Amino acid sequence: MKLSRRITNLTEGGSDGWEVFYRARRMAAQGAKITELTIGEHDIGTDPAILEAMHQAAMGGHTGYASVPGVRSLRQAVASRVQAATGVPTGAENVIITPGGQAALFAAHMAVCDPGDTALFLDPYYATYPGTIRGAGATPHALQTRAEDGFQPRRTGLFEAPQGARSLLINSPNNPTGVVYDRAAMEAIADLCHERDLWLISDEVYDTQIWEGKHISPRALPGMAARTLVVGSMSKSHAMTGSRIGWIVAPEPAVAALIDLATNATYGVPGYIQDAAVFALGQGSALEEQIAAPFRRRRQIAARLLEAQNLVGLIRSGGAMYLMLDIRATGLSGVEFANRLLDERSIAVMPGESFGRAAAGHIRVAMTVADDAFAAALTTLLDFARHIARQENKVGQ
Ligand code: PMP
Repeated sequence: MKLSRRITNLTEGGSDGWEVFYRARRMAAQGAKITELTIGEHDIGTDPAILEAMHQAAMGGHTGYASVPGVRSLRQAVASRVQAATGVPTGAENVIITPGGQAALFAAHMAVCDPGDTALFLDPYYATYPGTIRGAGATPHALQTRAEDGFQPRRTGLFEAPQGARSLLINSPNNPTGVVYDRAAMEAIADLCHERDLWLISDEVYDTQIWEGKHISPRALPGMAARTLVVGSMSKSHAMTGSRIGWIVAPEPAVAALIDLATNATYGVPGYIQDAAVFALGQGSALEEQIAAPFRRRRQIAARLLEAQNLVGLIRSGGAMYLMLDIRATGLSGVEFANRLLDERSIAVMPGESFGRAAAGHIRVAMTVADDAFAAALTTLLDFARHIARQENKVGQ
C-alpha cells in the first residue's frame, strides 16, 4: 500500500542527520565502549523531588484525561515565568501545554502555515526543523548564517529571504552552535518579520543555559508579541527529556486554534506529568541553575583545552549544552571527521553537516558526560585532529 507523500518525503529521501548517532548506539549495543557526545541528553536523571511530585499526583488520581490545553496551574506558571523574564504581559490564555518542544514546533507551523507556504529557518539548525516544516505541509527554506560572523544572523543574509514566505523559525541559544543571538541580530529578525509580515516561531528551549551575554526573547521587541509564537520545554531546563512536556506562548487567537489542533492530534499531556512540571517550575531559578551548572563547568574545561592549540577552533558561544568546533584545518569534512573519530577513537560526536550547510567542516560536541570523561574525550579528539592533520599533510601543533 502506498504511503502519503507527506510522510515519505519528510526527509526528502536524503539523510536525516542522525546516522553517526545511530551507528554509535549500534556499536555500544554490541559491547563497544563509546563516549557519546551526540544528543542533548543530560548525564543526570530527573530530580527525585520532581519524580516524587509525579508519583504523588499519579497516586492522587490525576491519571485520567487531563485538560486539553493544559491544567490551569501549569499554564499560569508558564505565563508568570515568561512575563517575569521578558516583561511582556502574559496570561494563562496565551499558553498551551504540549507533549514536548518538538510537538510544539510542529503545532506552531500547523497554526501559521498553509500547505505549500514557504517557512523560513536559519542554518545551522536543529536537525528536525526541515522535516517538521514538511510534516506541517509547508516548504522549508533555509537562510544561511556564516561561520565568519560567528553564526550570528546578519541583516543582509536575513533580507535574502524569498518574498511571500509565511513564517520564520529561529533558535537562540542555538542548537547546534551554542550561539546566543545578540540584540542587533534579534532587531534585524524583528524588522524582517514586520517588513515581510512573517510569523516568528522562536524556539527558546535552551533559555536557562546562558553562559555569556543575555538571552533576548524576540517576543519582547516592539510590536512582536502579536506575531510571535515562543516554543518552550522542560526537557533541557529541568532534565525532563523523557517526560515530554513543553509549551507554546502565543497570541490568544493562535492558542485557541492550537487547542482545536490538540483536541484532534494529541488530546493533551498526562496530568501527573503536568503536576510534576508545576512543582518543578515552583522551585524557581535555583533548580534551573543547578541543572545547568555541569555544562557551564564543562564549557570552561573545554575552553582551557582548546586554548592550548590552534588546529581546532572553538566557535564563540554564549549558551546551550553543546560546543561547535571548526575542524576545517584537518582537511576532513565534519561527516568524515565524526565517522573516523568514532571508528578510530570510539568517541561519537555529531557532524556539522547534520545541521545544515552553514556548519559544514564543523562538529558538534554535546557536553553530556562527567567532567573527567569529558576532558579525556576532548583531549583524545584534539590528539586525533593532530594525527589527521599530519596524515593530510596540513600544519598543526
Ligand atoms: N528545539 C531544539 C533546538 C532542540 O535541541 C530540541 C531537542 N534536542 C527540541 C527543540 C525538542 O525538545 P523536546 O521535544 O525534548 O522538548
